[in-house]
Formats: sequence, structure tokens, C-alpha cells
Amino acid sequence: MSDFVFTPPAQVSLAISGTTARFPVRRVYCVGRNYEKHVLEMNEGADLRDPPFFFQKPADAVVEDGATVPFPPMTEDLQHEVELVACIGTGGANIAVADALDHVAYYAVGIDLTRRDLQFRAREKSWPWEMGKSFDHSAPIGVLTPVSEAGHGVRGISLSVNGTERQNSDTAHMTWSVAEVVSRLSEQYRLEPGDIIMTGTPEGVGVIGPGDVVVARADGLPPLSITIGGRA
Ligand code: MN
Repeated sequence: MSDFVFTPPAQVSLAISGTTARFPVRRVYCVGRNYEKHVLEMNEGADLRDPPFFFQKPADAVVEDGATVPFPPMTEDLQHEVELVACIGTGGANIAVADALDHVAYYAVGIDLTRRDLQFRAREKSWPWEMGKSFDHSAPIGVLTPVSEAGHGVRGISLSVNGTERQNSDTAHMTWSVAEVVSRLSEQYRLEPGDIIMTGTPEGVGVIGPGDVVVARADGLPPLSITIGGRA
């Protein structure tokens, strides 16, 4: 029995297809502006030469397939962003692009839930992005599929709200490929097993609200379905 002043929180983890063993989540990294059409829908005057960048969500913001996500506080503009999620199985720093995919052990589909009004307020004021991006329950992630089944070529990603398609794109449109994302992120942080990377969203992001059923899909991976709950 360790000497803690209170019971430590449970390890956040995700289900993996084909096994009862679970993937323990260490960190949740996200890529901003990794699809040009989404960059432009966020800012018509955006300079497309500005590279993508990274931010984080807390690991305990992860929620699993089938969850009801409480409508978050402080927003009138909750939005969906479907993203391919790469899950690190082998750590490293300064990983070469040519070696980067060897560090990815699983893929999943995820939704980068965003309080867009708070994100834009932060953008205007040059504040950090946490209020817009890193709130409780902001990282729904689907069941993980091993690379041995999914390969590294997951292409189509899409998202529907109450059965109506809102987003539909191809990971081939990513500015930085999964390998480039892993390599560049590993220059800033030492990656460790358990890190997951949400690789950015394509165009078509939009508002969701209480009662909406949001289904995210990526080719060859189990779909992720969440329901938006009521306001607290
Ligand atoms: Mn995103």
C-alpha cells in the first residue's frame, strides 16, 4: 500500500479490438490546422504557409465509444472535429520520418470536441487554447485497432450528426502525414508508449447540442458513437 493522501485516480485506458487487454493512456496530443480546407473554414485569410502545430488535452478528458458526453459549461458553440488517432507503442525522441510509423502500434477514430467560441476568444486575445480545447470529456476516442490489422494506410474519415453526414475527407489531404506528425512531435517531447495523437480535422466542422448522436468513422476501424448530454 503506497502512502498517498488520497486514492489516486484510476489509470485512463482504451479498449483494443480482439483482446481484453487495454491501452493505458499517458498523454493526448493534438495537431492544429493539418487540413488546408479546415484552416480556411476557420479563417478565410489564413496563410497556408503557416505550418500545423501541437496542443494537448488532459488524459482524463478521454471518453469511450458509447458514452454520453455532458454538454460542457461556458459555451454556446460546441463543435465536432473528426480525426484519425495514432497511438504510440514504442517511445522515442527525435524520431526520423522514415522510422516514425514503427512507433505507431494502433489506430482509432476520435472526435476533438471544441468550445469554438472560447477557442476564438483565446485566439483574439492571444491566450492559451485550453479553454477551447482541453475541457472535461473533450476527447472521445474509439476502440483501437492494431497496426497488424489496420495497416498504416487509413484513408477515409467522416462524421455524421443524427444520421446526416457533416464531414467526409481523406487523410491523404493532411498537411503533415502521420509519419511527419510523429517525427515533428518527437522533436518537442519524448514520446512514450501510451501517448495518443489526434492528427487534425478536415473541413465540415459544426455545432452540436444536447441530444445529438455523433458518429465518427475511419475506413477499416470501428466507428465511434457518442451522445451529447444535457447542460449541467
Ligand atoms: Mn482538432
